[in-house]
Amino acid sequence: MSRADLCLDFANTRYYRGQATPTETLNAPGDLAAWAKAAKPPTTREFEAALGLRETIYRLFNAQADGKAAAPRDLEVLNHALARAPARTTLRRGRDGYDWDIEPKSGTALALLAPVLWSAGDLLTGPRLDRVRRCANPECGWLFLDDSRAGKRRWCSMSACGNRAKARRHYHKSKEEDA
Ligand SMILES: [Zn+2]
Repeated sequence: MSRADLCLDFANTRYYRGQATPTETLNAPGDLAAWAKAAKPPTTREFEAALGLRETIYRLFNAQADGKAAAPRDLEVLNHALARAPARTTLRRGRDGYDWDIEPKSGTALALLAPVLWSAGDLLTGPRLDRVRRCANPECGWLFLDDSRAGKRRWCSMSACGNRAKARRHYHKSKEEDA
């Protein structure tokens, strides 16, 4: 079953974006195939185009997390990719529900990324767009959908960034108390 935030998962395949050297998980065409659970890796050229698309998607939702409209150029690039991706025409019943059937014309990167592109379009046009957030740790930059009832989630996950921030606050506080 496709998820609304699949496009954010894809954007997060590069993370710690605020650090001098972000962590890259897609280093070769095979990494993208594994991520998309595809049988065949895309060509190097398509792989590079896919990474470019990922950065476009990141910028689109990063702007949204700041409450800003996307740069027209980024929307144009996404639209161009959507137009060239396989058409979303056929539903099929899968193990966990329904899914869009993808006609993998050629095993191209765009066919691999079709569900990502669709999820980006659905998220941008859907009711949860104002729930797109970026982790409050400036070094992290992880994008996520805030599904909490109050809508005040700030961290990618408490066990990583949230706890680190808490520990830092605690450290500063106890230093002040010692002084
Ligand atoms: Zn984080």
